[in-house]
Amino acid sequence: MNGIFSRNSNTTRRNYMRKQILVTGGAGFLGSHLCERLLNEGHEVICVDNFFTGKKRNIVHLMKDPYFEVIRHDINFPLSVEVDEIYNLACPASPVHYQFDPVQTTKTSVMGAINMLDLAKRLDAKILQASTSEVYGDPQVHPQSEKYRGNVNSIGPRACYDEGKRCAETLFFDYRRQHGLDIKVVRIFNTYGPRMHPNDGRVVSNFIVQALKGEDITIYGKGTQTRSFCYVDDLIEGLTRMMNSREGLTGPINIGNPEEFTILELAQKVIELTNSTSKLIYKPLPEDDPLKRKPNIDLAIKELGWRSEEKLEDGLKKTINYFRCLLENDESTRLT
Ligand code: NAD
Ligand code: UDP
Repeated sequence: MNGIFSRNSNTTRRNYMRKQILVTGGAGFLGSHLCERLLNEGHEVICVDNFFTGKKRNIVHLMKDPYFEVIRHDINFPLSVEVDEIYNLACPASPVHYQFDPVQTTKTSVMGAINMLDLAKRLDAKILQASTSEVYGDPQVHPQSEKYRGNVNSIGPRACYDEGKRCAETLFFDYRRQHGLDIKVVRIFNTYGPRMHPNDGRVVSNFIVQALKGEDITIYGKGTQTRSFCYVDDLIEGLTRMMNSREGLTGPINIGNPEEFTILELAQKVIELTNSTSKLIYKPLPEDDPLKRKPNIDLAIKELGWRSEEKLEDGLKKTINYFRCLLENDESTRLT
C-alpha cells in the first residue's frame, strides 16, 4: 500500500513513504487540521464524517487535493475502506453538542470505537483514539497524570461523553490484549484555535464571539475554575508524534498545555486582545463542571519529546482573527 511519493508545492510537502490514513471526524475542528497536516506530509487521507458538528467550510480548501476523499458516514455503522492508519476523532466534543443527543454521544464513542477497532483488526492497521481529559472527571488530584483514575459522575449530564470515552479506552486496551492490535490512546486537554465552531458553547469560542460582537461575556460560576488551553497546531503535532511512536507505546498519554488559567483570567485576556467594551455577567455553573484541570505532560515529554509551545496570548490572537473573518463574512450562520 505504501509507495515513494513526491509533490510540488510551496507548503511543507516532502518525499517520503505515502500512507493511506483514515480520519474519523475529519470535518470537525481538530479533524480538519489533522487532515490538512497529513495531506501536507504527502499522505492520502480519507475523511469520514456525519457532519453533526463538522462543517464543509473546514475542509473545502482540501477538496481540490486528489489525495483527499470525503465520505459522509456515521461511525455507529461499520465502514469498509483500505487504510494503513486510523485516527478516531469522531465524537461531538463541546458540552452543548454532546448533551444535545446524549444517547447518540455514548453510542458514537462505544459503537464507533468497536467499528473502527474491527476495521483496524481486519486491516492490521494502527489505530489512535482521541480520548479526553474528561476521563478524569472533576479531578481530586491536581495536576492530572495518566495514573490518576478519575472522578466521574456516571449518571450526570456529562457522563454520556466522559463514560463513553472511558469505555472507548477500555475497548482499545481489550482489543490489544485480545487481538494484539497496535493501539495509541491520547488524552486531549482543552484545545482551541481557528475552525472552532462559533456556536458550540465552549469557553474560548463563546468569549471571543461575545467580545467581537460587544455582547456580555458569560462567566459560569465565579470564574475561579481553571482550564489549561492548548493551541491546535501543538495538539496536532502531539497526535502525529503519538501515531508515529515506537511499537508498544500505547498510552494513554496526556496531550495539553500545562499553563493553567482561571476562566476570569481568560475573559480578561480576550477583552484586552479584542479591545472590546463587553461587560462580564455571571451565570450558574453547569452541573458537574470540573473545578480545575491541568495536565501533567511528563510522559509526553519523555516518550514523544513533545511539549506545547504556543503561548495563550499568541494562540488567542490567531483565533480572534479567524472569528473576526468568520463574523465579517457571516459564515457562522451557514450550516455545512
Ligand atoms: P468537533 O465537534 O469539531 O469534531 C467532531 C467531528 O466528529 C465532527 O466533524 C462531527 O460531525 C463528527 N462526528 C460526530 N459524531 C459522528 C459520528 N457518529 N460519525 C461520524 N462523524 C461524527 O470536535 P473536536 O474538538 O474537533 O474534537 C475531535 C475529537 O477530539 C473528539 O473525539 C473529542 O472528544 C476529542 N477531544 C477534543 C478536545 C478539544 O478541546 N477540542 C478535548 C478533548 C478531546
Ligand atoms: N464557561 C464559561 N462561560 C462560557 C462557556 C464556558 O464560564 O460561556 C466555563 C465552563 O463552565 C467551564 C470552562 O469555562 O468551567 C470550560 O468550558 P468548556 O465548555 O470550554 O470546556 P470543558 O468544560 O469541557 O472543559
